Amino acid sequence: MAEHKLLTKDFGTEGVQTLAVYERLGGYQGLREAFRKFTPETLVEEVKASGLRGRGGAGFPTGMKWGFLPKDVFPRYLCCNADESEPGCFKDRELIDENPHQLIEGLLIAAYALQVNVAFIYIRGEYQDQRLLLERCVEEARAAGHIGNDIHGSGFTCDVIVHGGAGAYICGEETALIDSLEGYRGQPRLKPPFPAIKGLYGKPTVVNNVETLSNLPHIVQRGGAWFKAIGTEKSAGTRLFCCSGHINRPGTYEMAMGTPIRELLAEECGGVWKDRSLKAFQPGGGSMQVLLPEHLDLPLDMDAVMQAGSSLGAGAMVFMDETTCMVNVSMRLVDFYHHESCGKCAPCREGTYFESDLMHRLEAGECSLEELNTLADICDNMNGKCFCPLGDTATWFVMSAYKAFSDEFKAHCGAGRCPVRTVRAELVTA
Ligand code: SF4
Repeated sequence: MAEHKLLTKDFGTEGVQTLAVYERLGGYQGLREAFRKFTPETLVEEVKASGLRGRGGAGFPTGMKWGFLPKDVFPRYLCCNADESEPGCFKDRELIDENPHQLIEGLLIAAYALQVNVAFIYIRGEYQDQRLLLERCVEEARAAGHIGNDIHGSGFTCDVIVHGGAGAYICGEETALIDSLEGYRGQPRLKPPFPAIKGLYGKPTVVNNVETLSNLPHIVQRGGAWFKAIGTEKSAGTRLFCCSGHINRPGTYEMAMGTPIRELLAEECGGVWKDRSLKAFQPGGGSMQVLLPEHLDLPLDMDAVMQAGSSLGAGAMVFMDETTCMVNVSMRLVDFYHHESCGKCAPCREGTYFESDLMHRLEAGECSLEELNTLADICDNMNGKCFCPLGDTATWFVMSAYKAFSDEFKAHCGAGRCPVRTVRAELVTA
């Protein structure tokens, strides 16, 4: 699989955090080739042909997203979404830590394709070290002529600005990110108009994820057809998966799309820890529906996982062993969404409050069986009825867990304690 390590190539002890090393290993050749081989229009077509889909969660085809920008409306903006906040997700942080210039080069290639003269990297507030690293790398690239006026003598001009967020999950939603970048409180905007038509400062704007942009130097240098040949028909290329939970080797692994999830778990993650068996897993981070061991043979393919009732989302695989209490996991995730609800719309603001309150009482064994209907009712009043996807996703895990583990949920009702905790204590001490 070494040939599929595009984004996470092992540079040994050398590291590529400095421009000198990055250039010595061929860095910024993709940008030079973009200027030499493509017009902005043909570059958009090449990215369409590559089949690259957004790596931030929605999986929308990147080239098609670029194609939505209205012709002849300028200025236009490009924002790199580095506001990585999905529970279980840490791949963008590692991409920045390990290869920051790869991202900056990808950002500049996208800016050239879109004819953007000012591009932003909006980075999560908690990622202080990564923000400082990116700021240093942008200065290095500017001093070397990769950023600024008439880049590489191409006639194309682009500046890059690194902007730190303040640590709000909702700013990963692209319109909230744009609001925050403009200096307002980060809250989602009504769509339409979509950012491609009216985004940052009211101008056409594209928002792309860190991993999406990091793929571009490779696509430009090796061609869209080469990228498309990796993976599956509808999920091209490789993808980074942040693997965590009850496994022997947690970490970020780059896999060719289409690889069975079982292979990722067994060969990269070293299997479930402590010789225990797998109870459940989330294939796409905290927002996504739970899957079961019987789903391990699914390929790492966005559509296949969606057909199974979940999503690869932002690429965070969270594995849970047989001792896990699904009510407890649901409660913790609901707490997260309750804390991160921006408060703009009532179904999410109020719904996450009631959801959290009920889940705490259920976990403590204080709910009645009838209140499970209330839980389903609360979720039904949120799902599809909120202003932005956060409200919907605050219900997805808990409802899927309730469906798959209804006996476990029911066993908590009136038990006066968490019944799974007792079983877990026996298993752990056995
Ligand atoms: Fe804010 Fe939640 Fe409504 Fe989204 S769904 S706008 S996060 S309150």
